[in-house]
Amino acid sequence: MKITKSTNTKINDVNFNSIKFGEIFTDHMFECNFSNGSWEDPIIRPYSSLVLDPSTHVFHYGQSIFEGMKAYKDNNNDLWLFRPKDNYERLKKSSERMHIPVFPEEYFFNGLNELIKLEKDWISNKPGSSLYIRPFVFSSSPMLAASPSIDYKFLIICSPGAAYYSKPLSVYIEDEYSRAAPGGAGYAKAAGNYGSAFYPTSLAISKGFDQIVWTDSNSHQKIEEVGTMSIAFRIGDKIVTPMTSDTILDSVTRKSVIQVAKDLGIAVEERDIFISELISEFKSGNLKEIFGCGTAAVIAPISSFGYKKERFELNKLEESYADQIKNSIVNIQQNLSKDLNSWKYKIKQ
Ligand SMILES: *Cc1c(COP(=O)(O)O)cnc(C)c1O
Repeated sequence: MKITKSTNTKINDVNFNSIKFGEIFTDHMFECNFSNGSWEDPIIRPYSSLVLDPSTHVFHYGQSIFEGMKAYKDNNNDLWLFRPKDNYERLKKSSERMHIPVFPEEYFFNGLNELIKLEKDWISNKPGSSLYIRPFVFSSSPMLAASPSIDYKFLIICSPGAAYYSKPLSVYIEDEYSRAAPGGAGYAKAAGNYGSAFYPTSLAISKGFDQIVWTDSNSHQKIEEVGTMSIAFRIGDKIVTPMTSDTILDSVTRKSVIQVAKDLGIAVEERDIFISELISEFKSGNLKEIFGCGTAAVIAPISSFGYKKERFELNKLEESYADQIKNSIVNIQQNLSKDLNSWKYKIKQ
């Protein structure tokens, strides 16, 4: 792989104590183009703007998918990824659904390895710090024909992140709009799924909530996801989370939460959850916790939910499952505890 190093670094201009998610990018990026029916040799080059023709396919027809993952540095300055194979497998599934040529696995892992190695000074080993990694692919042919693009561009960019403590969220259970429908592309990490979520989310925000709880598109009675995260509930002493499906994205964090909960001796059920059940469990005092699961926050606690005109506030817990599970996952990610399930992936330096 050809690597062109940046002649200067932006790292000294960054105040690592006050970075917001996804606002600052590192010095280099990985790039690979698909043309004439195959992926060309990938390169790493200084981070810079792209020049694209106004007719570029992605602007009009949105053939675009992405991944989100993190790299960590431990106290010996070793660098780690967390379950990157799962991200690769999902990238493949998303590509197939969006009719994008699958990016070769070897290029993906070599690209990640070389880029993270090059950007290692951007990762701190302070608790909770990481480097957010955004691989993405978009359709790049200059053409307005409403048919699949002929050319594609695969890039990886990186953004440093400090510990991310989300304040407990209040969420609105959506009963009109849908994120995904059976037979649709909800299981793919497709850019358009995000684009179409902003408007209903803005309506929920104007009603005083932070995020939407997505329900099934048919009856709006079954819980699916929250914002751009998986959702889980603690009902009594069990964790309950909806099964993944073609309308629920297969979150790496969700899978990790399920396994870590089991490792901690907490029972987990993957099954349908109806709004009526939540409200009746809330009323009987059994609904103890709600949380979102995703790479950015790991676990985002939810302290209240609204449905139609009603609001439901959960009681604060001293010993939450959310905290226990989050700590267990973060400790594995930062190489502070035993990795029972072989999730860590070491960057070769
Ligand atoms: C990315 C994403 C998630 C979280 O997936 P992780 O692999 O845990 O980061 C959940 N739901 C949707 C819709 C997403 O796009």
